[in-house]
Amino acid sequence: MGWKSNQEIGGKIIDNRVKQKSENIKSHWVKVMPVLTFILIMFFLGLLLVYIFVPLSVDFSFEARNSNFTLNTGELSEMQFYPNMRFPTPNITYTINDCTVKKKNDMQIAFNIIENKTTLKFTRVIKDGDISVLCDSSERIEGGMFIAGEGGPSNITQTDLFNVISKGNILLIKESRCANPNIALHELLHVLGFDHSENKNNIMFPVTDCKQTIGDDIIEQINNLYEIPSYPDLAFTDVRASFNGWFFNTEIELINQGLSESERTEIIIYGDEKVVKRVRLDSLDYGYGRIITLNNIFVFSKFNTARYFINSTFNEIDKSNNEVILSIN
Ligand SMILES: [Zn+2]
Repeated sequence: MGWKSNQEIGGKIIDNRVKQKSENIKSHWVKVMPVLTFILIMFFLGLLLVYIFVPLSVDFSFEARNSNFTLNTGELSEMQFYPNMRFPTPNITYTINDCTVKKKNDMQIAFNIIENKTTLKFTRVIKDGDISVLCDSSERIEGGMFIAGEGGPSNITQTDLFNVISKGNILLIKESRCANPNIALHELLHVLGFDHSENKNNIMFPVTDCKQTIGDDIIEQINNLYEIPSYPDLAFTDVRASFNGWFFNTEIELINQGLSESERTEIIIYGDEKVVKRVRLDSLDYGYGRIITLNNIFVFSKFNTARYFINSTFNEIDKSNNEVILSIN
């Protein structure tokens, strides 16, 4: 009994072995299939990665072209220390401290004379004026001559369009004996950016004389400069871009070359007129710039032209420099 049952058990065992063998073959395939599938997927993924990361398009970039906007001053600009020097607005404030009544009156008459001849407006304030007028009666001698006064801009911000004066100082030393307050006028014109003149009859001649007058060219230059509204002017200075497979990379450089702070706005990047990316641009003071780098922007289809646009809703001196088009060959 025991034997038979053993045989039976044995037979069963053999059967089981056969079954196990076929199950082994099956489970072998079950084990191998995912591995093969995985290898296949990896292979195609690899191909895809090669496609994506091997650059298939070239870099493209733009060089800042000259703005359509030009200041029509020509030779007039040579009268100033630097080209196109002006305050941000024609409304200029000033303080006067430590002056005698005569010097204070001279200074105020000088402000009135310039106000009447130009579009500038001068307003006296208690503190933090754009122009600080001080007086000192101690004699100063330089190169064998008495120093009558000193004056000039003390803070200049250089932009592509202007040299923007934000602060100026005047020091009145000698009292003027002329009918016109020539010393005060001379120093005020220095503050407004004007350099010395070689013409003895010009008020900007280094040595003062009562016969000297303000040249018409100075008045013309002031009015030309302040004719330009006190707006910001955002402009692209450099734009570069490249494709890495389906990824778009770009670097944008821009500046505010205007006369006031720009408001918050956005830059829109179009690829063949479809919006690729919108980038927020925070407010930017004049003279300041920004570099924006954007990497790995996924694009479904590549484009032949990339257009960059500063979508400002505020006034600018020139809006033609708010757009740049790159063509990809
Ligand atoms: Zn001088």
